[in-house]
Amino acid sequence: MRLIFLGAPGAGKGTQARALAAQQGIPQIATGDMLREAVAKGSRLGTEAKAYMDRGALVPDEVVVGLVAERLGRSDTKPGFILDGFPRTVVQAEALERLLKEREIEVDRVVFFDVSEGELLRRLTGRRVCRGCGATYHVVFSPPERAGKCDRCGGELYQRDDDSEATVRRRLVVYTEQTSPLLDYYQSRGLLARVAGEGSPEEIGRAVVRAVRGR
Ligand code: AMP
Repeated sequence: MRLIFLGAPGAGKGTQARALAAQQGIPQIATGDMLREAVAKGSRLGTEAKAYMDRGALVPDEVVVGLVAERLGRSDTKPGFILDGFPRTVVQAEALERLLKEREIEVDRVVFFDVSEGELLRRLTGRRVCRGCGATYHVVFSPPERAGKCDRCGGELYQRDDDSEATVRRRLVVYTEQTSPLLDYYQSRGLLARVAGEGSPEEIGRAVVRAVRGR
């Protein structure tokens, strides 16, 4: 099962990718998480990436493609993987196609999470993330039982630097301009499946499974 989860920031890709990857025993490869880890470590790559991320811009293609190439080379991707937040530009999609071709494998399905802009804004600006396990909450729609603490692991919840309203608006523009052309790209390859991304996580999860099975 080799999948790409595509959609605007806040569309629910991460939540659904985490659940399906755990259920299938395959890795979730989230470039945003990988970049945030590099930033937290203070590596050279992290320092370079942070400047782009803080202003809601995309990190240069060659940097992200390098990260993904290295990650796909690890043996845990053999049974499959879910790419979450990659590719985000046509250049990245073409690089991915070459990477997979070298390994004589193909993507099985691209799942697009369709969510309205108003809903994306509401979700992102209220989003809180666990430092420990990466679980996400929303201050209004899905608050944790204890304020500021993760229900699953007790970790501290924080607001991502790029979830401020101004940066969120910028990220949505970047999505429309640079990432949404991928819908046509994958549609023309017969790989695109559209999922309505508004509803309960469980409902959306069931729609994802149907989309992946091609029904
Ligand atoms: P995300 O967690 O997927 O919303 O990503 C957070 C930020 O990391 C984005 O706003 C970009 O700055 C950067 N990023 C993540 N994935 C990519 C990618 N595939 N290409 C370029 N930048 C990325």
